[in-house]
Amino acid sequence: MEHVSKEQLARFVEGELPDAENKLVETHLDDCDICFQLYVSAIDDWSMPEIGLSETFTSETVAKITNQNACYHAKSSNPPASKARKKQTFAHYLLAAGLTVVLMLTGAFQNVLTISDQTSVKDEVSITDQLMNTTTSWLDQLKGEINR
Ligand SMILES: [Zn+2]
Repeated sequence: MEHVSKEQLARFVEGELPDAENKLVETHLDDCDICFQLYVSAIDDWSMPEIGLSETFTSETVAKITNQNACYHAKSSNPPASKARKKQTFAHYLLAAGLTVVLMLTGAFQNVLTISDQTSVKDEVSITDQLMNTTTSWLDQLKGEINR
């Protein structure tokens, strides 16, 4: 199969493809990193504009999520989509969100590692300093006692 076209991906994301074509795209995405990347960005393109649609949209969306009926695709002006399609669309969104979380966690984790590395280095220095100080003051004390 050739690479998936942008139009095809967009329709795939919205669950508009016929079942046979849907299957082909799904299979291809499993095998092709290039198209999978396009697919992920297609999800971004698709979900972003709707979030800014109206002032109430965000709160409505939050309410929908709270009700566990979340579906970014649900708009009154749209023809009603079948439940399976809604499910699939939401699954796509979750997949993208999950990827983002994984990427963020990986980045955050690396940051934490870097910070803890720096901290341990600092700790080592300060512990050495403390030891030096303690030893010096102990030596001073000892000297004082000897000279007494
Ligand atoms: Zn491809």
